[in-house]
Amino acid sequence: MKIHANKLDNGTQIEGDVILIGGGIVGLALGNQLADAGRDVVILESGTEESDDRTQALYEGKFSIGGPTTERTQDAYLDASRFRYFGGSGNRWGGVSLPLDPADFEARDWVPRSGWPITLEQLKPYYNRASDLLEIPHFFPELDGGRFAEPSMSINGEKTLRSRPVHLTRYTGNIENGPFQRWKDETLERENLRVILGANVSRIGLDPDGQRVDSLDVKTLDGKEFSVRGKTYVLATGGIENVRLLLASNDVTPEGIGNRSDWLGRCFQGHAAVFNAFSQLLPLVPSQMWRDYVGRSRERVSWVIGSTLAAQRQARSGNFSMYLRPLPMKPKNEKAIHQVALRLAGKDAPGLQLLRATFGIEHTPNRDSRIVLQPDAKDELGMPRLTVNWKHQQLDLDGFERSIEQAARELGLHDVARLRWSGLDGTIDRFVHVGARHHMGATRMSPDPKQGVVDTLGRVHGVGNLYVGGSSIFPTSGIANPTLTILALTLRLGDHLASKGRAA
Ligand SMILES: Cc1cc2nc3c(=O)[nH]c(=O)nc-3n(C[C@H](O)[C@H](O)[C@H](O)COP(=O)(O)OP(=O)(O)OC[C@H]3O[C@@H](n4cnc5c(N)ncnc54)[C@H](O)[C@@H]3O)c2cc1C
Repeated sequence: MKIHANKLDNGTQIEGDVILIGGGIVGLALGNQLADAGRDVVILESGTEESDDRTQALYEGKFSIGGPTTERTQDAYLDASRFRYFGGSGNRWGGVSLPLDPADFEARDWVPRSGWPITLEQLKPYYNRASDLLEIPHFFPELDGGRFAEPSMSINGEKTLRSRPVHLTRYTGNIENGPFQRWKDETLERENLRVILGANVSRIGLDPDGQRVDSLDVKTLDGKEFSVRGKTYVLATGGIENVRLLLASNDVTPEGIGNRSDWLGRCFQGHAAVFNAFSQLLPLVPSQMWRDYVGRSRERVSWVIGSTLAAQRQARSGNFSMYLRPLPMKPKNEKAIHQVALRLAGKDAPGLQLLRATFGIEHTPNRDSRIVLQPDAKDELGMPRLTVNWKHQQLDLDGFERSIEQAARELGLHDVARLRWSGLDGTIDRFVHVGARHHMGATRMSPDPKQGVVDTLGRVHGVGNLYVGGSSIFPTSGIANPTLTILALTLRLGDHLASKGRAA
């Protein structure tokens, strides 16, 4: 049921069973799952069905990216990398879907704060259910007695370089009148699911001892204020905004909600893309064999080259991946280099196409990579604006260079390609780019309240009825696009909340 907040009376009190803050992919998936289970659900969504500049401007803030000694300001990123209307960034996402790597779940002793407190095995059934939701094939068909397709080539028997499958879902607002739009429309029509549009949660109100959420304060852009009360609350405003609401709701707990151990806003992780003019791959086997690795299609699985746990251990690096696409050759010099390289490798030229390589580099958890409230600047609704400092540590940069060398060696040894790369030259600034709009880690998951913000289900430590959904709960971010994992974790939380409802 669709309700416009600006049609509600000032001071209204709304009651529900489960209150979801945010109507992005998490809000949509969880809202429908809980409504299916018979729960009375309310989704509070800041935006309406269309994007509008005033609502979007609530996301503006300060942003920088850098390494241990560098910092490059890029304020536009905060507003440009997320979308504040019903459906959230799902309205614009690319739909690239893949699970985290097995290595991402492991505690790697060379990567401080690595390791997930839940296993890939535990998540696999939820990954498959997330795939069902996105109408893409299962990544773990073995759970249903099936087998996954093999890539067109095995590079070195998966010892150091690992081929990681990728599917593209059609569940994105990028496809006009496609399944994502239908999902949103159907959600707005459900009886036991109220979606309140134009409803900006401005404060999560705790009871006086700080152990439960009592109610939420909500504001509209035309000046209305009302409150919402439920039994259970799920914060699902995206990987950055989740932190803002928890930090800004500081009237009962001055350090912010869930921040007794000073982890809230820390270990913010993004996915950087690294390339320079020389990031090129010269295949030494026919293009047909690289077919699955070059380009993407919604019709078939494609593959990305990643590194295995053994390789990461050897290189003392985080995770790493290589994306390839055809590189139109510039007439003279590129062709000449191509010919020389082929001759050196003793290969014939025809049919071999130079490829452009972009590298993904894991942003390992770094306490100084941080989201904080700005002390002075406020948005139109009076909420403190954010400063986000995306900071890599030296491990990321050194490990990345070692991973590239390792990948180049393996590709060469197996005579499948030559990798050309000129090195970072000691400066992160020139080559590490804000590659993706993935925002992870800043309400990190840990079973130990001293080491994280939420427990293994996403419940805020110390607050009995408040959960966080989305990529902010990832303890490490790997290098996979996050949304399939977000959905897997959401469905897992949904099962828990649905069964709790039955027990109550
Ligand atoms: C251009 C682009 C391309 C991307 N491509 C990919 C991809 O190919 N693969 C992939 O895995 N990921 C991709 N992503 C990331 C992906 O979109 C996100 O991981 C995913 O959409 C996050 O969903 P969410 O529900 O957690 O958060 P969001 O989508 O951010 O939803 C949060 C919702 O909360 C609402 N909200 C915010 N503040 C408040 C408040 N105070 N009160 C009430 N409501 C509020 C917002 O309006 C929004 O609807 C991409 C993102 C972008 C922007």
